[in-house]
Amino acid sequence: MYNYSPDISAKALRLIADCGLRPSPQRIAVAYYVLANRTHPTVDEIYTDIKATCPSLSKTTVYNTLRALVESNCIIELTIEPGTSRFDGTTSPHAHFRCNSCKRIFDIDMPHIPKLSDFDVGNVQVYLSGLCPCCKN
Ligand SMILES: [Zn+2]
Ligand SMILES: [Zn+2]
Repeated sequence: MYNYSPDISAKALRLIADCGLRPSPQRIAVAYYVLANRTHPTVDEIYTDIKATCPSLSKTTVYNTLRALVESNCIIELTIEPGTSRFDGTTSPHAHFRCNSCKRIFDIDMPHIPKLSDFDVGNVQVYLSGLCPCCKN
């Protein structure tokens, strides 16, 4: 599934503490998964993958942990697909490109966003779609 990284593990523990949750192994596993997998996984993908090695995990724990992490701005929730939330452990500003063929979601550089003097912008989500380099050829 993924290689174990002590750095990511330490960060996962810190994020769980930062959002005020008790650091249970299940919650740390959820935070670890989102940090380690740059694929912008859905709740179902996270649950299914972790459940394989952590049978005591409940879907409610996955859902509630993700919710708390998003509310504390530790991870980002993407709504690039209607009706499906995806989660992103990269919180620095970046845009997303969704391939219409393979459905993968890529991190891309944030395009220039104009300054809006009359508005206080709190959240910027930029989505592009089309064909990725693999599917284009
Ligand atoms: Zn593609
Ligand atoms: Zn991303």
